[in-house]
Amino acid sequence: MSKQFNEVIDQLNKTCKIMNVDNNELEILRKPDRIIEISLPVLMDNGRVKVFTGFRVQYNNIRGPYKGGIRFHPKVNLDEVKSLAFWMTIKCAVANIPYGGGKGGVIVDVKKLSQGELERLSRAYARGFADFIGPLKDVPAPDVYTNPQIMAWIMDEYSRIKGENTPGVVTGKPVEINGSLGRDTATSLGGFFVFEQVLDKMKIKKNQINLAVQGFGNVGMNFALIAYNAGYKITAVSDSKGAIYNEKGLNIKEVVSHKQITGSVINFKNAKNITNEKLLELPNEILIPAALENAINKKNANKIKAKIILELGNGPVTQEAEIKLQKKHILIIPDVLANSGGVIVSYFEWVQNLTNYYWEQTKVEADLKKQIINAFKIVWQIMESQNNNDMRTAAYIVGIRRLVNALKIRGIK
Ligand code: GLU
Repeated sequence: MSKQFNEVIDQLNKTCKIMNVDNNELEILRKPDRIIEISLPVLMDNGRVKVFTGFRVQYNNIRGPYKGGIRFHPKVNLDEVKSLAFWMTIKCAVANIPYGGGKGGVIVDVKKLSQGELERLSRAYARGFADFIGPLKDVPAPDVYTNPQIMAWIMDEYSRIKGENTPGVVTGKPVEINGSLGRDTATSLGGFFVFEQVLDKMKIKKNQINLAVQGFGNVGMNFALIAYNAGYKITAVSDSKGAIYNEKGLNIKEVVSHKQITGSVINFKNAKNITNEKLLELPNEILIPAALENAINKKNANKIKAKIILELGNGPVTQEAEIKLQKKHILIIPDVLANSGGVIVSYFEWVQNLTNYYWEQTKVEADLKKQIINAFKIVWQIMESQNNNDMRTAAYIVGIRRLVNALKIRGIK
């Protein structure tokens, strides 16, 4: 077992110990139900065939169909996909939506593909996994470097194979082809609702804090926009090319257009360029990692000055770092709660597909707010009852309790 999944299982064991969970259920949750690895041959523009490697890990479906995104990234590996699939299982249980957990990935650098190559790769993924996915089996969605257009190709290819229009096979589709209004901003908006709940509990006022957002993809950018429009001061943001900082606050709308024009947030006129490492170590009260795993690790944990970390990306804080941060009384709002807005609205999209009745954006956002605040309240209450500031373990207690109950009631035999 390699490092990341090892840590995942450690966290599971630690939580189960606190909860006194029966070993039978724990045994089941320790391993994914199914791991699938396939070869994806793609005809490249130069006339040659390139074979990519694709994964789907179906972790657990005791509470509903497997659910989780597909990641396209050069560093994708099975250990990572297994960890992400486990986190989806916990996330859906914490959010109390009727899904299990899964995750997919392809080892690829999308920046090196033409649009045609990207389409052929996405369709190859749908063909390769056609027998394993489906609205009541396993429902993929976007993740790092996948987007609504890719979901549209997967949905189209799957529908052709099955001979039936099947929008419910993936979520995060464009609204023109049965996607949901509000899905594109759902992860960020959900994170914002949780963030404001935490501020309220901790009696922190908007004007007392500065925010730093690491990652300016769909999730980081939309969170920065939502927070900026709500009057929060964001002094730093970053993307893979570097970070920018202005202690007086950034005009996020202008940063968004700057990124659209230049391809990066760096070299923005009203800020100075800083390194990505520096952004994480700024004296800002709130740090929002919204990129890849392990950004905060044993090397930089002692340099973190934030009071609250809102995990909008999956797995940004390693276990070793978390121990150090907790000693410093830094509150970590865990990924399985903080970024669950995405999969919550994926659930709403799927409900709309299955019923063929489409909701207004105001209903999507109101229902998201209700669902995620309910999850927050239970997690906060458990954390308080444990007398500590370990919100991750509290969230795991909520999720594992629901999974274990479902396993018990359905029966293992
Ligand atoms: N990839 C997102 C996540 O990690 C969304 C998953 C989904 O909507 O199924 O939560």
